[in-house]
Amino acid sequence: MSKLTVRDLDVKGKKVLIRVDFNVPLDEQLHITDDRRIREALPTIQYVLKQKAAKVILISHLGRPDGQVVENQRLAPVGKQLEKLLGEKVLCPKDCIGEDVKQAIAASKERVVLLENLRFRKAETKNDPEFAKSLASLADVFVNDAFGTSHRAHASTHGVTQYLKSAAGFLLEKEIKYLGQAIDNPAKPFVIILGGAKVSDKIALIENMLPKVSSIIIGGGMAYTFLKSQGKEIGTSLLEAEKVETARSILEKAKAAKVNIVLSSDFVVVKDFKNPAERKIVKEIEPGWSGVDIGPETRKAFKAVLSTAKTVVWNGPVGVFEVKEYSDGTRELAEYLSSLKGVTSIVGGGDTAAAVAKFNCEQGITHISTGGGASLELLEGKVLPGIAALTDK
Ligand code: AMP
Repeated sequence: MSKLTVRDLDVKGKKVLIRVDFNVPLDEQLHITDDRRIREALPTIQYVLKQKAAKVILISHLGRPDGQVVENQRLAPVGKQLEKLLGEKVLCPKDCIGEDVKQAIAASKERVVLLENLRFRKAETKNDPEFAKSLASLADVFVNDAFGTSHRAHASTHGVTQYLKSAAGFLLEKEIKYLGQAIDNPAKPFVIILGGAKVSDKIALIENMLPKVSSIIIGGGMAYTFLKSQGKEIGTSLLEAEKVETARSILEKAKAAKVNIVLSSDFVVVKDFKNPAERKIVKEIEPGWSGVDIGPETRKAFKAVLSTAKTVVWNGPVGVFEVKEYSDGTRELAEYLSSLKGVTSIVGGGDTAAAVAKFNCEQGITHISTGGGASLELLEGKVLPGIAALTDK
């Protein structure tokens, strides 16, 4: 990596500002339902503490409070969980900048501080320079370990780097290592699995990756726009009518590039989404019916392609996996991918990571990204502003 990493910093006796991604899911009682993002940040925090930093000052957002204080989006529950995982007290001030915060940090015995939700202030997402300067004034050096927000040029990911020496944390480094390797130098055959609701979200990815991949497997809601472009009947399945032409042109480009595009060929369909009992498996979708999962023949075909792969990147569930009756395709694919040996398997964040966790397949996957949007943008070939802004080596 051409950017400084936390290993390159001398943090002894220094105050270290670390941007983490503690945007964890909370239930109605404010219990954290998945603390993976907190656990993934521990190596950097523990390393900095071991190097005898004077203070570790953590900053994060949680949810989308849109510049207002929202009581149930405070970071205090995250602070409690962090205390448990670290085995030491964490100071949680009720704001993220200002004299009171500075004094509270100076007066505290705690080595670790978790400041309040950055997005309680509009200045964060506006990348306001004054706000970034105030954050920077709390510390001597900056570490970005929030891969999941590195595709955003916000005050805490971009602005702050203008005022402090800035390095990548271990999680950021790991994300770039796996995703970067897959993009730049994948072991072949390299297969991408795409799913999810929308074609429009994945066009840039497909165009960027076409020259690099052997096969692209397409399932989920986005498959129907491709099938429509081939003149197939898709009933009332998800369709982006204005993207049919784009889908057709992608299929042509793939053919020219000798990339094998594998589309779903049988489907679990329903008439009424809320009535899973009437679901059936079909090869041709009739008018009035809607595809909600891939069928058994498609699962077999997808697995056959995966069985020869050396690198697999998966982004997007292949069915409505949140509903048990429509989840078999995504579950079988997750189980199969996690059972493969000698394959580098990478799962994009967001829904796909949630699906893999739901089906207890995390163990067998090489790398599960903590950033849905950020991993998508890397695969689209974009430069992530939060990474580009770090200090060069
Ligand atoms: P995305 O946000 O684009 O990654 O889409 C994820 C969502 O796509 C999940 O919530 C799935 O339920 C949904 N999805 C996957 N397959 C289908 C389908 N065949 N029909 C409708 N929604 C789907």
